Amino acid sequence: AQARETMGFQAEVKQLLHLMIHSLYSNREIFLRELISNASDACDKLRFESLHNPSLLDGEGDFRIRIGFDNNAKTLTISDNGVGMSREEVITNLGTIAKSGTREFFAHLTGDQQKDTNLIGQFGVGFYSSFIVAERVVVTTRRAGVAADQAVRWESDGSGEFTVEMIEKAGRGTEITLHLREGQDDLLSGWKLRSIIRKYSDHIVQPIVMKKEEFKDGQEAVTDEDETVNKASALWARAKSDITEDEYKEFYKHVAHDFEEPLTWTHARVEGKQEYTQLLYIPARAPFDMWDRNARHGVKLYVRRVFIMDDAEQLMPIYLRFVRGVVDSADLPLNVSREILQESKDIEAIRNGCSRRVLSMLEDLAENEKEKYARFWGEFGRALKEGVGEDFANRDKIAKLLRFASTQADTTDETVALADYLGRMKPEQDKIYYITAETFNAAKNSPHLEIFRKKGIEVLLLTDRVDEWVVSHLTEFEGKQLVSVAKGDLDLGKLEDEAEKQEQEKDAGEFKELTDKIAKALGDKVREVRVTHRLTDSPACLVADEHGMSGNLARILKAAGQ
Ligand code: ADP
Ligand code: MG
Repeated sequence: AQARETMGFQAEVKQLLHLMIHSLYSNREIFLRELISNASDACDKLRFESLHNPSLLDGEGDFRIRIGFDNNAKTLTISDNGVGMSREEVITNLGTIAKSGTREFFAHLTGDQQKDTNLIGQFGVGFYSSFIVAERVVVTTRRAGVAADQAVRWESDGSGEFTVEMIEKAGRGTEITLHLREGQDDLLSGWKLRSIIRKYSDHIVQPIVMKKEEFKDGQEAVTDEDETVNKASALWARAKSDITEDEYKEFYKHVAHDFEEPLTWTHARVEGKQEYTQLLYIPARAPFDMWDRNARHGVKLYVRRVFIMDDAEQLMPIYLRFVRGVVDSADLPLNVSREILQESKDIEAIRNGCSRRVLSMLEDLAENEKEKYARFWGEFGRALKEGVGEDFANRDKIAKLLRFASTQADTTDETVALADYLGRMKPEQDKIYYITAETFNAAKNSPHLEIFRKKGIEVLLLTDRVDEWVVSHLTEFEGKQLVSVAKGDLDLGKLEDEAEKQEQEKDAGEFKELTDKIAKALGDKVREVRVTHRLTDSPACLVADEHGMSGNLARILKAAGQ
């Protein structure tokens, strides 16, 4: 067997540990939620692997998580009979941060404890939170299917290094022993641990077992009898009326690996051609890897309450990649694989159902909880905008959910819905006007807006990169055309009075000599030079061809090297 080896934590882990211990202390109880959450995931993983390879279970098919404590040694123990870890897995999982968005997270740290505490929550705390209450942590683990003498022992005091060695371990799975720091003795109580478990982990599917206690001579004494502390049932399979808000919130933290509460959620059982249950959440904050379109997706797939896979990207279109939760199908076969999912018509039906459900939830939020919707928009609006080009079937629904900045308020706040715009249109106006630009200031100060400002016509100010994509796919809304103020021969239609038109024609003749001269000087840099009435203050502006790409899009493509 290999001897004990000492290894250093990845630099980021050291930083994270330091931050965690110092900034999450007031939330110290969450370490138990994190360890139980991991134990539960480990059981789910093995259950899934055993569908293909039943011998992994080795006759032990009942999963459970056990919590114990030792008053004399001042230790807490969390053990599971889940999938366990190999030596390599231990070193990677408990020595590095193997998470997408890690680099962004560390780039955002400021050194200001208050701010960084919030960031840590957003990043997710996980296993390393054990060190909030423990001065030393020992993990022993044996991967399902390997021999007893191929188990691993990991130990660390969380300051910079850890050791690993091969050991013998009787059963499969992972056991984590926390040697508590001074002042943590209140955790060495069955009553206290039960209350923490019920508060944070009641929704965990596997039974969380503790030894029963009795009162003897005025003291709590541990007996030999097991007792299940949590409800130990799949939360999403229970009736809505049976589930409290807090249970929904805690379940979210488990499935989403998030520290914060969700913004909102929807829970429904769908019947019909496909039968499934969906419990889908919108997080309160965008994760660090939000803008990486290849990042992890957040919906877990279950089949009749058996966990099948994490981040089943087939369950949600890419523009809804921020949704977290669970879909539990009553019809799919248990041995369904990613390859099968890709082809499956049933999955397509489920995905369509889930998309519609999420969009309805957002509609509801937009209508009834405006403040929450504004928060949603601030975090995920840019992702939702992608849906305009991605989800043809739901384009109208998505269009209603869009929010823009406009000349009405002239601020960067994206608060204007297309419906608001329609409501403020001039009686003779029949188009929705917008301008795209690289920055808000460029949009706001564009000479193209002068005539619109003069006439009091609202113009949407689009300055997200993705806005070019939006307007190239969304050409009308409720029968009104979306028109760029910077393109083509601006036709203000009925908004223009006769006198103005005549004046323009007159001007065109009068200034022909000048415009010809300018056209000649600019040569083939421009197609045409003409007199305009779009401007009230500026002498000249550039206008894109009606059917050509906008100046802004040309800039974006150029920046992208095209
Ligand atoms: P996360 O759960 O978000 O992946 P954690 O820090 O909580 O992050 O855990 C890191 C990794 O360590 C897990 O993804 C898992 O692979 C492994 N791990 C942690 N606890 C256990 C356990 N009890 N059994 C098996 N693997 C575990
Ligand atoms: Mg975890």
